Amino acid sequence: MNLKDQEEAWTLDTLLVHGSQKHAITQNSGTPTVQPIYPSTTYLHSDIETLDQAFSGQLPSGEKAYVYARQGNPNAQTLENVLAEAEHGVDAVVFGSGMAAIHAALLTAGLAPGTKILVAQDLYGPTIGMLRTLFVPIGIEMVLRDLCCPNVGEIIRDEQPDVIYVETLSNPLAKLIDLDAISAAAQEVGAVTIVDSTFTTPYLVRPIEHGFDLVVHSMTKYMGGHGDTTGGVVICAKNAYIQQARTYATMLGAMLSPFDCYLVMRGLKTLALRMERHCSNALEVARFLQSHPAVERVHYPGLPDHPHHSLASRLFRQEKFGGLLAFELKGQSREAASRFMNRLQLCLPWHYRWLYPSLGRHRKCRRHYKRFGAGAYLLIAPKVTAAFARGCVDEAF
Ligand code: PLP
Repeated sequence: MNLKDQEEAWTLDTLLVHGSQKHAITQNSGTPTVQPIYPSTTYLHSDIETLDQAFSGQLPSGEKAYVYARQGNPNAQTLENVLAEAEHGVDAVVFGSGMAAIHAALLTAGLAPGTKILVAQDLYGPTIGMLRTLFVPIGIEMVLRDLCCPNVGEIIRDEQPDVIYVETLSNPLAKLIDLDAISAAAQEVGAVTIVDSTFTTPYLVRPIEHGFDLVVHSMTKYMGGHGDTTGGVVICAKNAYIQQARTYATMLGAMLSPFDCYLVMRGLKTLALRMERHCSNALEVARFLQSHPAVERVHYPGLPDHPHHSLASRLFRQEKFGGLLAFELKGQSREAASRFMNRLQLCLPWHYRWLYPSLGRHRKCRRHYKRFGAGAYLLIAPKVTAAFARGCVDEAF
């Protein structure tokens, strides 16, 4: 009995299990303009020899081949290709969250017992938390320094780190780092450079063009853009890093699901439009706040008196300064901050921000105690879309 006859003879039970293979719709029926979601965990191949070849990820013809979804699948592959091209990297690996991507990037950069990492002091807190919890106890030396300063090259030459980790735009004070100065000094001392570009995205800056080795993003923020998916990505400047990052993604099982790949892919379609609106809204809000009598200080690199305004003009897309801004109220009391936040109508006090709605929060800014004095509260028009950048809502609000 040939295969066709066998298929025709299928019982109902067999048909229900294997029917989708029998009745598969092929590309010949027309190419969908939106990539279908491939939830399949396993992939069939025509014979055992091809399956053996597919295990290497590539067929002799050069075509990509999949075997098991954790090791790669069409949705992840497409998203990785788009992100690598957007960042001008050689390739990318997507992860189930920004934190998973950061973890893999740190391992990919070679962090191991006996190595030293130089870290910008105003990083996203959980990144420092991860280093303290997972890396320092196994013998990795972590040095926290202000890397937003003009003598960053000297610091790198003095510290001689193996890895350097920074963010393009610091949270919450929206300070910038000089990507070119850091990558030049890193090259001198042989350090691998990682940058978290979540707040800037390739719309504003492409760190690989400024000499960085690894770029990470929490795609949960601007890239996904709609508050309905969690994801991360590592984009690499060299193929050697990609192999490592993919190995960690596969071994740690930190992959992004095909459905989440689809959601991020859909979000990316409007990234440029949203970023443009984030930037223009944030600038308008920053100018408004700066002239308001109840406001002490506004932290936004688009304002000419921000200490990193000229650096932002050099590094970022012309006349665009991102959506992250922070400001301090006169008096800096928690009561004033709470009163302000409670009266906001569109800027909801949610933790997650920088998406399309307008969100906001205030928080006791422990890390900035020294700067603002004990008991001071920094009012954050958070991270962007947040508080006053008002996401993509109408400017009249
Ligand atoms: N990097 C930055 C700058 C972030 O703000 C965040 C989350 O807020 C992360 C990384 C972590 O990303 P995720 O929440 O997707 O794990």
